[in-house]
Amino acid sequence: MRVVLLGTGFSIPTPSRVQTGILVDTNNNLYLLDCGSGVLSRIIQSGYSPKDITHIFFTHHHLDHNSDFLAILKANYLMGRNDMRVIGPTGTVKWIEMQLKSYPYLQGRFELDTKELQSMDVFNIGRDEIRVATTSHLEPSLAYRIDSKSSSVIFSGDTEPCEGIKKLIGDNVGVLIHECSSISKVSGHTNPKTLARFIKGLPVYKLILTHFSPEVESNMENIKDIVSTAFNGEIIFAEDLMKLEV
Ligand SMILES: [Zn+2]
Repeated sequence: MRVVLLGTGFSIPTPSRVQTGILVDTNNNLYLLDCGSGVLSRIIQSGYSPKDITHIFFTHHHLDHNSDFLAILKANYLMGRNDMRVIGPTGTVKWIEMQLKSYPYLQGRFELDTKELQSMDVFNIGRDEIRVATTSHLEPSLAYRIDSKSSSVIFSGDTEPCEGIKKLIGDNVGVLIHECSSISKVSGHTNPKTLARFIKGLPVYKLILTHFSPEVESNMENIKDIVSTAFNGEIIFAEDLMKLEV
């Protein structure tokens, strides 16, 4: 499994980080997890094509996680592909409907197969197994676990450290991509202290921190010190276009 961190920034831009987006390439399928502003360009920069994405997963419907959605569909349409499978939390169908209403010239052009998921849903896409859990954010939000062959990855989306992600980790997970968007306590988000308390003793082999506000970006050493007091595995600070073989 290959994970490509397309966008590792927050709503406030920095020169090297666009908003949220991750590609997961399992060889069987190419999943795009969230697509905030800048992600369409990052897909091209990563060497992939948006035409090859088999499924788009939304963690939730805040702008920094979904604003490139129509841009991706439109680019694909111009390249001869008009279908997409879309997976997201409650409200995803309505959200897509409202987006398309804003752009009458796009209506009727796309064939979308959209599924809304509930916590602890488990299903297969080809040989890949997908699990979802509700997280602790400001609106319906999901974390995803993808298992393919003997590899596994979880993406938290936006959340405070929560039981749902603990359940997804279960006996173990190879890679946990967890947001760490703030330095101090912010409702619905994670900071280094709450992450350290959460991660202690959990069977996670590699922890990738992402969704950095400018404030977090300028305090990374400090954050590593705090999280590593509780976690012995490898800690990686995500960067845009970083590729990992999992
Ligand atoms: Zn966010």
